[in-house]
Amino acid sequence: MSQINIRENLLRVQDKIATAANRSGRRPEEITLIGVSKIQPVESIRAAYAAGLRHFGENRVQEWEGKYGGVEYLDGTWHLIGRLQSNKAARAAKLFHSIDSIDSFPLAERIDRARANRPSGSQLRVLIEVHLGGEETKSGVSPEGLPELGEKLMALAHLNLAGLMCIPPFMENLDEVRPYFSNLRELKGQLEERLGKRFPVLSMGMSHDFEAAILEGATEVRIGTALFGIRPAA
Ligand SMILES: *Cc1c(COP(=O)(O)O)cnc(C)c1O
Repeated sequence: MSQINIRENLLRVQDKIATAANRSGRRPEEITLIGVSKIQPVESIRAAYAAGLRHFGENRVQEWEGKYGGVEYLDGTWHLIGRLQSNKAARAAKLFHSIDSIDSFPLAERIDRARANRPSGSQLRVLIEVHLGGEETKSGVSPEGLPELGEKLMALAHLNLAGLMCIPPFMENLDEVRPYFSNLRELKGQLEERLGKRFPVLSMGMSHDFEAAILEGATEVRIGTALFGIRPAA
């Protein structure tokens, strides 16, 4: 996809985000747009960056290792949004600013340990991915397992638990997806009450449903196709 098209897409998406933010009584700046660049070439990341996008999401460590060198010089914030296998945790902890798809304590521990070896000592931002039902994705902790995972994760010194993420089932009718988003918002509220800490981030909403997600309180939306076009065959 050309640089011009990506710029136009970005403007269109930002406009829709602003409209949905206003409708939900928030300012557009309160919503972070994460451009999902998985399977897209580094040229697309550079074009979106040139158009003003700063947050990017990738779903595979190995793919990102191949692309990272081509965009490392940019001042982007790189998110891992896909399922992470424990044996790749250390590599992920090195190459991403945020891991948005934590779904088990052993995985969190591995990432924590990898960060501990860093001289800087800074915490790595993480989100817990919650599985809210639906067959499309198997990743994520169950709502029942969330409180325990949240509590244990908070005790890890090198991770900063910032909030929750979900991938609801694909719904043609957006009214049917909204309960999933409101469910994640409520789970976040319950976790905050239980752990006595505010978690600012709700990462939910993709190309086809991000406006519904914003109306239900999303603070981060993860958008691929609407920005970069249909993904090339992997
Ligand atoms: C691919 C992906 C997205 C973006 O999907 P689009 O429908 O292309 O916007 C968002 N979140 C996750 C976790 C993804 O894997």
